[in-house]
Amino acid sequence: MLNIALFGPPGAGKGTQSESLIKEYNLFYISTGDLLRKEIKDQTRLGKEAQSIIASGGLVSDEIIVQIIEKTITDNPNANGFLFDGFPRTYIQAYILEGLMIKLNTSLNCLISLEVPEEESVARLLKRGETSGRTDDNERVIRNRLKEYNDKTLPVLNFYKDKGLYNEVDGAQSIESVREQIQHIVKNELSKRLLNIVLFGYPGSGRGSQGRAIAKKYGLEYVATGPMLGEEIAKKSETGKQIQELYNNGQLIPDEIVVQLIEKKLENSKGVKGFIFKGFPRTLVQSYILDGLLKKHGSSLSKIIEIEVPTLELIKRLDERSKTEECMPYDSSTAKIVQRLQDHENKTVPVIEKYNELHGVVKISGMGSFEEVFERISFEIENGFKNLK
Ligand code: AMP
Repeated sequence: MLNIALFGPPGAGKGTQSESLIKEYNLFYISTGDLLRKEIKDQTRLGKEAQSIIASGGLVSDEIIVQIIEKTITDNPNANGFLFDGFPRTYIQAYILEGLMIKLNTSLNCLISLEVPEEESVARLLKRGETSGRTDDNERVIRNRLKEYNDKTLPVLNFYKDKGLYNEVDGAQSIESVREQIQHIVKNELSKRLLNIVLFGYPGSGRGSQGRAIAKKYGLEYVATGPMLGEEIAKKSETGKQIQELYNNGQLIPDEIVVQLIEKKLENSKGVKGFIFKGFPRTLVQSYILDGLLKKHGSSLSKIIEIEVPTLELIKRLDERSKTEECMPYDSSTAKIVQRLQDHENKTVPVIEKYNELHGVVKISGMGSFEEVFERISFEIENGFKNLK
């Protein structure tokens, strides 16, 4: 999720700037002012309570705000992220926002403060008042709104300065210049995050070769359980010896071992831009493990991609591979190939379905040349955060 708060006095241009941000990153827009005006229009209990306060330019109580905002946030757990306009406006609301974000397993990524001199705000709001139809866009109420902003809202910035989330933009510039500066801040924020990709697909769909190439292109660490187990055996580590013994007895490698290896990989991979996982998670249990491991490292999944190839084509490819030097021990007979395809269907397809419900899985065709498939995957990765739930 990408969660942003746009901060600034009335008339700073928060609403105007919100429009392009919402479009660019497909964010769910929450303006407490709009929500309150809707309550008033519908003459709800909360609307009736808020009406006279808004008319005078005062701040509505935190009690009312928490009620209108909680439902909107918790009703949209699958949003790409939230853009808050006019919230938080008090110190208490900053804590409320923290709590609500935790409820969704996420956090505020940055606060962007549009700084505008008081007289400029007044002039803009008076101009807006000519057409907005808002009764609070008149000079007496505007002055009171700005006083409330200075007294109660400005101090909230300290809360975010202490957390290192505060970004300042000179809001007196042209709409376009402000927009560019905001974009710069958000892009910088996004670049700090790890890009974590899971690459799904049946054996023979090209996950391995595509995964390695994608890792190289985007500076990601390629995490594939098969080779990792092989490395341990080659190192003759204690774990390697255990793995060898399990292999010798034809037994499956238990999750405890796989988890340890992946955890070590996450810890030892400093300075990478993210991870691309191939062949993991293979089971529902492993999908929970991956979510937990990433969370422990302050990260989460960014994109899940499935390479789709028709079954007959898979069999053809695996059969062809079995006749080359690249033949894996598990591709050496038709019975083994069919067994692997069945294993994928029984154990991994439910994982893909679960991820599809939770985050959305992007399906791409694995047919065509290596370059064509590579282009398709690259396109999805670069396709911003629009498809990311
Ligand atoms: P806005 O549309 O953001 O300018 O808000 C209009 C009016 O709604 C404000 O002057 C306040 O009276 C009220 N309001 C909006 N958001 C909040 C909030 N987060 N806390 C308290 N009052 C708010």
